[in-house]
Amino acid sequence: MNHPVLPSYISAENVGPWHIYLQQVEQVAPLLDKSLHPWVETLRRPKRSLIVDLPIRLDNGEVAHFEGYRVHHNTSRGPGKGGVRFHQDVTLSEVMALAGWMTIKNAVVNVPFGGAKGGVRIDPRQHSCAELERLTRRYTSEISSMIGPDRDIPAPDMNTNAQTMAWMMDTYSMGEGRTVTGVVTGKPVSLGGSLGRQDATGRGVFVAAREAARRLNIPIEGARVAVQGFGNVGEASARIFAQHGAKVVAVQDASCTLYDPAGLDLAALKRHVAEHRSLLGAPCGEPIENADFWAVPCEFLVPAALESQINRYNAERIVAKLIVEGANGPTTPEAELILAGRGISIVPDVLANAGGVTVSYFEWVQDFSSFFWSEDEINQRLDRIMSDAFNAIWQLAEDRRLTLRAAAFVIGCSRVLEARATRGLYP
Ligand code: NAD
Repeated sequence: MNHPVLPSYISAENVGPWHIYLQQVEQVAPLLDKSLHPWVETLRRPKRSLIVDLPIRLDNGEVAHFEGYRVHHNTSRGPGKGGVRFHQDVTLSEVMALAGWMTIKNAVVNVPFGGAKGGVRIDPRQHSCAELERLTRRYTSEISSMIGPDRDIPAPDMNTNAQTMAWMMDTYSMGEGRTVTGVVTGKPVSLGGSLGRQDATGRGVFVAAREAARRLNIPIEGARVAVQGFGNVGEASARIFAQHGAKVVAVQDASCTLYDPAGLDLAALKRHVAEHRSLLGAPCGEPIENADFWAVPCEFLVPAALESQINRYNAERIVAKLIVEGANGPTTPEAELILAGRGISIVPDVLANAGGVTVSYFEWVQDFSSFFWSEDEINQRLDRIMSDAFNAIWQLAEDRRLTLRAAAFVIGCSRVLEARATRGLYP
């Protein structure tokens, strides 16, 4: 593919996930209403991208520098919204792609946000809690001109959590001279966080899977599930599937893969990870080769780790009936073609993992009004928004004979571009 619209700061040799995002936009562009065609270019360019240097003092007294990013992909429909990732492989291209997918996702579930994302290139496993706190505070301070409750609202992503959000909220608030709870979501409940936010992405993954399974006649009761990633999204997805009668037969994290055709003891795995920070040495399941995870016999496959995990090297081995994308960008376009040819459906990331940002939206609303909802109320509203979004996408896919991803992109891109077109150009 040519890259006529690559920003000058992304090299054509190493476009990374941004390339995948662009390919997805190119595929649906011709399907959009003709009146929107002149505005498609908007989706091919992030609105603003910031690269920051983060010097921090390590516990041993030395100073180390890390690179951080914050990208606003599009803010036509509202303030930017998207997580912050700490990972050794984070790049600007990856953050741009994740911000682009947030633009589409927020429009798919129709929450009034644009798309944003942030990241820091650091291996958090190599650092103490005190070092990560200093890094988080410096990062927040460096991106403070871009964030704010009506500007851009960060949230947790890989290797960040409610504690990280508390440090971000505190640092931003110190700069403002007042407590600003609405600057981040995914906070601890004691600081204006929302009940149900912790499990929200996993719960949304389950709701999307349930709706797809109903139409494809795959019973959840007794179904076998394989989950890649056993963090916030993977663990909650696995647990909620199991609560509904499914059997989680395989899990994989960055350290190993565990398999038990009779079903894994998820509570024991969760306890092990809380203590040891990985699945390695967990007291249940048989360790298998990481590559064999993809060939595990199952009905549902939930990738909930990194991008491009399902690719041309393993797509032929997958036997699942349905892939539900808990992660962002886990399936490459090449793999998607192979899977489509083999009759394996995919519930795409921009729908399947939108439960997190949906409850983040509830949290933001609750912070503004200082009035907090019950967990039941949150879970019910989440279920309704996810089911409605699924229905609309399924219907469009049927009517126009599209994949679920293409249908989701048509709905998401149309909402973003309608807002863009109506706002017009400034000046
Ligand atoms: P997390 O840090 O809580 O967990 C990540 C998990 O992935 C860990 O178990 C880790 O060991 C595993 N992992 C990392 N590298 C791996 C590899 N190479 N192979 C196998 N496993 C690997 O992160 P999370 O918040 O659960 O995010 C996971 C994915 O879900 C990401 O793509 C993220 O963007 C997406 N997502 C997260 C949220 C959220 O609310 N946290 C919302 C929407 C989407």
